Amino acid sequence: MIVVMKSSATKEEVLRVTDALIKKGMQVQTNKGVDCTVLGVLGDTYTVDKERVGMMNGVDRVVSVQEPYKKANRKFHPEDSVVNVNGVPVGGGTLTVMAGPCSVESFPQLEGIAVQCKASGAQILRGGAFKPRTSPYAFQGLGEQGLDILEEVRRETGMPIVTEIMAPRYVELFSEKADIIQIGARNMQNFDLLKEVGQTKKPILLKRGLSSTIEELLMSAEYIMSGGNENVILCERGIRTFETYTRNTLDISAIPAIKKLSHLPVVVDPSHASGLSYMVESLALAAVAAGADGLLIEVHNDPKHALCDGAQSLTPEAFDGIMHKINALKSIMS
Ligand code: PEP
Ligand code: MN
Repeated sequence: MIVVMKSSATKEEVLRVTDALIKKGMQVQTNKGVDCTVLGVLGDTYTVDKERVGMMNGVDRVVSVQEPYKKANRKFHPEDSVVNVNGVPVGGGTLTVMAGPCSVESFPQLEGIAVQCKASGAQILRGGAFKPRTSPYAFQGLGEQGLDILEEVRRETGMPIVTEIMAPRYVELFSEKADIIQIGARNMQNFDLLKEVGQTKKPILLKRGLSSTIEELLMSAEYIMSGGNENVILCERGIRTFETYTRNTLDISAIPAIKKLSHLPVVVDPSHASGLSYMVESLALAAVAAGADGLLIEVHNDPKHALCDGAQSLTPEAFDGIMHKINALKSIMS
């Protein structure tokens, strides 16, 4: 349930309503907007006398929230959330580009790609150290050594790093080393992992599951947020459909849908969505046009010989070309 305060409500009135709800055993999240304050109320709200709360001084209205996600709900937090990644904002009208190889292969490989991506305008460096591969015989990533390489390249370039975690036992390690912890599509409903990263304050990039609905994605965000970590960035990365030409089908409609339902930033991964490098530009531009807060793009110095996802990886030169178009589009839109 939410309590919308009048724009004329005083601080004391807001406090009185908050105290009354806390006394009833509720948790109250206060969101001060530009026009008014909204109180998000969590708990067994059926025990609250809504009419009585509605009559308290300063209250404009009391609204029940039907959706099962509360903290992720835009009704709880009417303004866009902006996640701060070591000084780089994600959300709220900015466009943040995260780029880099599917997997970290070596220091020179990652360093070279990072320098070129940064020069083209990418703000955050991506790179997998622990890889969720369909085949147990495929390259599984460099593991901890990969994290060390990511840290070294961050030191050199100043770019924050986003990298995927696969199991709850690594949360402490990733909290130390990563700037954004990525939860991959295959782990979107690994609830133990979601609970564990919910105990940290790290930004989390939560990717949509292979066949998950938007509501399921928001419920997974709710798991993280209910633990106390509200720094969640959602990622649309394509979903499985009957179409086999592309690796997945990019659900462009997820962008406006999530923006309507939630205040969390939404980024789009056109690389995993298509699986085809020649489509990445079209899909990236479509995502920006549809209102995405950022992009996650795979870039490799030698896509033909990449240890993972070469077919969808762009060369740094191709990435540079796309960045020019993205910036041109973004400036027309603003
Ligand atoms: C990735 O970003 O490297 C990745 C494995 O993506 P997804 O979880 O979306 O398949
Ligand atoms: Mn990949």
